[in-house]
Amino acid sequence: MATMRRPLIAGNWKMNLDHLQAIAFTQKLGWALKDAKYIASDVEVALFPPFTDLRSLQTLINADSLPFELGAQDLSVHDDGAHTGDVSGAFLKALECSYVIVGHSERRADHHETDDTIAAKSVAARRHGLTPIVCVGETAEDLELHGASKVPVDQLTVVLNSLSKDDDYVVAYEPVWAIGSGQAATADQANDVARALRETISSVHGPDKAETTRILYGGSVKAANIASFMSREHVDGALVGGASLDVSEFSSLIQFPKHVTLDS
Ligand code: PEP
Repeated sequence: MATMRRPLIAGNWKMNLDHLQAIAFTQKLGWALKDAKYIASDVEVALFPPFTDLRSLQTLINADSLPFELGAQDLSVHDDGAHTGDVSGAFLKALECSYVIVGHSERRADHHETDDTIAAKSVAARRHGLTPIVCVGETAEDLELHGASKVPVDQLTVVLNSLSKDDDYVVAYEPVWAIGSGQAATADQANDVARALRETISSVHGPDKAETTRILYGGSVKAANIASFMSREHVDGALVGGASLDVSEFSSLIQFPKHVTLDS
């Protein structure tokens, strides 16, 4: 991990925790990190609750000065109008969201989102001052047919061609076969694909942009394996699903600089 890129640990709660559960969870996470003397400048933490929790968490984070950024799990390509069920980036910005996840593999699968849609969502995010976390990753079948990097690089290229080098964005490499499976990629596998993604950023938006852009790994990350991912040059953080729903596991994961690994 390069020191100039501030690590980012992002908790994607998916469709879990209603707004009351979200308040209780976030309070407990805040207390756990305070007890552990967590230093926010060392590691940035962002929470991605369901849409219905955002207002409650915005209020809690502000009232208790909790060291968490807020993000949404998706947004509309449109800003307003006749789009039943969709949520505008403008509304997310009004709730003080900093980030929005785009292109998660579950949305690609459940809602048939294409690379072009994901590019349009990334542009919509930037229109409202949100930083998109652009998810890319290969399925097990892709891995067998093309190796690990080709599909994520192709997916990212479509999005980057729609953004400019002045746009803030984060990339999350999430091999689909590793999500929720308990079978994480190895740190070296994650680093190899992250390097290929950084080279892609460099060729589209230049080497300076590649050097400063954060690339996360996601897929069965937990407290026990985070330090080995973070020890690799091109991995700047993690997008965490299941392990972000357990206060003590997630709080321990966030404190990865305290962990000692044999392979770091
Ligand atoms: C995810 O949903 O982005 C994810 C990485 O999930 P998990 O950590 O549960 O594999």
